[in-house]
Amino acid sequence: MVTSTQDLLRAWRDAPSGAVVLAEAQLRGRGRLGRVWESPPGNLYFSVLLKNAGDPLLPFRAGLALAEAAQVGKLKWPNDLLAPDGRKLGGILVEVEKERVFLGVGLNVSVAPIPESAALQEFRRASRAQLLADFLWSLESWLEKENEAVLCAWLTKSMTIGQKVRVQTGKEAFVGVASALGPQGELLVRTKEGTRAVFAGDVRLLRVLEDIENPKISEGQA
Ligand code: ATP
Repeated sequence: MVTSTQDLLRAWRDAPSGAVVLAEAQLRGRGRLGRVWESPPGNLYFSVLLKNAGDPLLPFRAGLALAEAAQVGKLKWPNDLLAPDGRKLGGILVEVEKERVFLGVGLNVSVAPIPESAALQEFRRASRAQLLADFLWSLESWLEKENEAVLCAWLTKSMTIGQKVRVQTGKEAFVGVASALGPQGELLVRTKEGTRAVFAGDVRLLRVLEDIENPKISEGQA
């Protein structure tokens, strides 16, 4: 079993651009900041090698490709794929080493490994081979698109814009309303003190969280 597809791709020193490493499961799948990406068998885990270091919109291009392949859910800034109820379906990790960019993707296809996660099969049936092919096809086209087209498309798939959010950047935390994206994909957040640009950090969607934690009882139910 592999530690992670990111590790394997890094170790493949003469891998050509576009090389893909795919695994049935990962022993040490990771997210941002060393967080764990739970990777049991049954889901999709792969890494793609790109050589376009320095593209600040890569996470957005990849997020759009993932949303298109899954055909379910919306994107949370910058590139988590969330089910309509806010549970996480998939994630993307971009790691850079000189000119080599490792684009790691995890998509829960048949197993939702933690309580706040969802699996695609709850919404639709799709084979992992088809999902991988659709992602790569879509990624190729998003890599060629103008920045403005990428940002516009991302906005239409966004679950973040217009939401109340809590932002954590380093030691600082603040609450505001996510209002737009800047030209580098930075999240613009309206706060009482004015609009702040977030280039990196943790963004929690407060409304979606409230919905999950305090589910509303619809009319007619006891
Ligand atoms: P978040 O989106 O949870 O605020 P993040 O964007 O930093 O955090 P990532 O680094 O992309 O998240 O992924 C790691 C986090 O995702 C973990 O801390 C855990 O909460 C969650 N997670 C781990 N494995 C899975 C999985 N297979 N499916 C959905 N969520 C997962």
